[in-house]
Amino acid sequence: ADLLEISNLDKTFDSPQGKTQALQKIQLAVKEGEFVTIIGPSGCGKSTLLKIVAGLDTGHEGSVLLGGQQVSGPGIDKGFIFQEPRLFPWLTVEKNIAANLPLKYPHIHNRVQELIRLVRLEGFEKSFPRELSGGMAQRVAIARALLRNPKVLLLDEPFGALDAFTRAHMQEVLLDIWQENKTTMIFVTHDIDEAIYLANRVVIMNARPGSIKSIIPIDLPYP
Ligand code: ADP
Ligand code: ADP
Repeated sequence: ADLLEISNLDKTFDSPQGKTQALQKIQLAVKEGEFVTIIGPSGCGKSTLLKIVAGLDTGHEGSVLLGGQQVSGPGIDKGFIFQEPRLFPWLTVEKNIAANLPLKYPHIHNRVQELIRLVRLEGFEKSFPRELSGGMAQRVAIARALLRNPKVLLLDEPFGALDAFTRAHMQEVLLDIWQENKTTMIFVTHDIDEAIYLANRVVIMNARPGSIKSIIPIDLPYP
């Protein structure tokens, strides 16, 4: 079954400068367990699309079904990873990871430990964000997004701010998570190499002013 089903999605932003049509007649389906990367030039609407799927941006036309439910409702559990880690500076690594759950939640400590192992941050449980490298901080953000074992991870250029070496390492961490947990991955990037390396399907978004944006799926085997 399709985990994500988008049909005829339109999104217009109103601002004092006028209207911007960010998305026009978008059609996209993503199957459960797929690793889809979305590439396209800056400004073509990738972030907007991802935020709508996440329920972080409301007010669109068309149908966006995630796990069979309209994304404007409560919806299924999903994790979102931004370009920057967005950690709480005053909380330790383990408390940042657990920040979205009540501390008395049963088994929370075991779950946090499991995630710390998964993103390879053993020994840094009590560290604060300022003590971490960019890559380590982003791994905390990934662990936090995985806390409730979401069916889908939405990633908006998550490695864009990292150096090439750290980025390569993070890509392996993400592929491990995908293979271990069978999490559906929807990953936005403008880096073609990254898109092709990570995905089992690459979706291309084109922004042609005044024309319909097309999304062209290409089926690729996993490397
Ligand atoms: P991408 O992620 O592909 O770079 P975006 O989704 O960020 O593209 O933006 C798509 C279009 O929508 C751009 O023209 C951008 O200027 C516009 N846009 C995005 N967010 C807003 C907003 N909050 N208000 C007004 N316009 C916006
Ligand atoms: P990455 O960001 O992918 O972890 P780095 O080169 O930043 O790559 O770090 C590599 C390793 O060096 C880390 O996994 C960690 O073990 C150690 N390290 C990096 N920064 C620090 C730090 N501020 N304090 C302690 N250890 C660190």
